[in-house]
Amino acid sequence: MDVVISGASVAGLTTAHLLASAGHAVTVVERAQAPRQGGVAVDVRGAAVDVARRMGLLDAIASARVTYEDRFDFVDPDGRVQATIRPNIDLYDSPDDIEISRDALSDILRGSVPDAVRFVYGSWIEHVTESAAGVSVELHGRGTVRADLVVGADGMHSRVRQLVFGPEEQYLHHLGLYVAVLRRTSQGSGVHGSEVFNVPGRMLMLRGDGADCSALLGFRSERIDYDYRDVDQHKSMVADAFRDVTGWKVPAVLGEVDRSDDLYFDSVSQIRMTSRVSGRAVLVGDAGYCASFFSGMGTSLAMVGAATLADVLDECDDVPSALRMYDARIAPVVEAAQDLAGDGAAILFPATPEAIAARNADLAVTASS
Ligand SMILES: Cc1cc2nc3c(=O)[nH]c(=O)nc-3n(C[C@H](O)[C@H](O)[C@H](O)COP(=O)(O)OP(=O)(O)OC[C@H]3O[C@@H](n4cnc5c(N)ncnc54)[C@H](O)[C@@H]3O)c2cc1C
Repeated sequence: MDVVISGASVAGLTTAHLLASAGHAVTVVERAQAPRQGGVAVDVRGAAVDVARRMGLLDAIASARVTYEDRFDFVDPDGRVQATIRPNIDLYDSPDDIEISRDALSDILRGSVPDAVRFVYGSWIEHVTESAAGVSVELHGRGTVRADLVVGADGMHSRVRQLVFGPEEQYLHHLGLYVAVLRRTSQGSGVHGSEVFNVPGRMLMLRGDGADCSALLGFRSERIDYDYRDVDQHKSMVADAFRDVTGWKVPAVLGEVDRSDDLYFDSVSQIRMTSRVSGRAVLVGDAGYCASFFSGMGTSLAMVGAATLADVLDECDDVPSALRMYDARIAPVVEAAQDLAGDGAAILFPATPEAIAARNADLAVTASS
């Protein structure tokens, strides 16, 4: 079977590995000119650990794990700790779960994709036309290819979803926050675990292992109309949101944001769809069921989704029927993961000075009781 996958990140690479290993002819189209770097640590949890094992990658992924201390220290403008939580006691299902830098995981997945897979960087799907003969897939600047299956693994702002299922507005549920991630900051020497500074509705988090440290800036906002590919615009949005903040390390980190060349910026949102399949097209990962930055499940869902797709295609020769099976199997997994997004914002992004003080008082009491 000929398969075209849009997107070469976790969902696309896992799908490419599993479908090519099952004997299918796979082409991966990635909009970026080269593999995209950036982001901080992501989690391989629960059933995704089994997917990694099945791919023969568990040892490689486990040995690249990062070991941040499981604590969040909430600091005041002078960096003095006001309260502390140790979230992983509740967050992780099992000690087998793995936290790994997104870049390391992507490198491992990419390195595991069989040589027969064709990668097309710097292109994207312009049109898909389905007929009895299969799907005709027009690639930007690269002509047209025929496929039996088109996989949209192209993230929260999926092109395949837009082409096959309709505009993003129908599916994207904004959770009221935006985040910007700097893979490395020079401001985190000595940070073990996470240090968090808040002003109302805004947060700077430094997360490090004592040597390497990343920075995450987030702010509450209604949905903003912006170009999600325009990095200069992202930098301006972050600068505007923090313009009046002088406490702790905010001004220094803002300077690094301005100079960075791998800033990751997006809204904290979920993609909610009643069906992620149509004919010979299917969505995998954030494209079909983004659970949001704060669910801790995006990467695991993408891997489990890819494995579920590989399973149904193995079980059933008729592609549309197999895709309907995929949709039915992945739906409860997605629902459970999206429920996990919870109310992390209340702890990490208190909206008022009173809410910040109450959060700190609550956590201080919890810590001492
Ligand atoms: C650079 C980057 C940094 C990230 N950092 C973090 C982080 O710090 N923390 C976190 O929790 N999550 C982060 N994420 C999101 C995280 O990777 C996903 O939530 C999760 O791993 C599921 O992955 P995915 O493959 O479904 O989607 P994504 O990882 O979003 O991958 C989508 C891929 O599709 C490509 N693409 C987009 N549009 C098109 C198109 N039209 N045609 C072809 N290809 C296209 C993108 O370039 C990207 O490679 C980041 C994503 C990216 C791309």
